[in-house]
Amino acid sequence: MPFSLIPSALWNGYEEITPAWLQQRGITLLLSDLDYTLAPKYVRRPDLALREWIAALHAAGIQCVIVSNNRSGRRVQEFCADLGIPYQGHAGKPSPRGLEAAMAASGISPKHTAMVGDKLLTDVLAANRSGVLALMVEPRGGAVTLWQKVLHGLQAPFKARCPENMVKKS
Ligand SMILES: [Mg+2]
Repeated sequence: MPFSLIPSALWNGYEEITPAWLQQRGITLLLSDLDYTLAPKYVRRPDLALREWIAALHAAGIQCVIVSNNRSGRRVQEFCADLGIPYQGHAGKPSPRGLEAAMAASGISPKHTAMVGDKLLTDVLAANRSGVLALMVEPRGGAVTLWQKVLHGLQAPFKARCPENMVKKS
């Protein structure tokens, strides 16, 4: 579904996405958005829970690469260096080019790749345009600003059509 805004699966947060779930779908490369997906934007360094999640993915043979639209490269660079994972900055999502560059650098095809993010218009659209599994999480830290709340409401009808909704199940 190249221009679809509908995610393949929806969770409350990244920590609910397990290595086993990804392995069952043949995923060996997990691309991830950073801001509000792995941490709120004001958090400068990864916490222990995130480090442990990344370590569990690596232990299962799943590579992880951050694909961020973030323009201030320094935070992304420091955050990923701290986590010990590569990143693709200036990704230009919803363009597929950042995801394609990350897949090329990893040598892994779209069939074995998933992308996780908190926004339909950037992360999910870019994932679907790239032909990778599109995973969505609720914004980390919650929808706080007025714009985030509006966006949250606008995303609801598309999320409601998600075939695997773990938020509803929980
Ligand atoms: Mg985000």
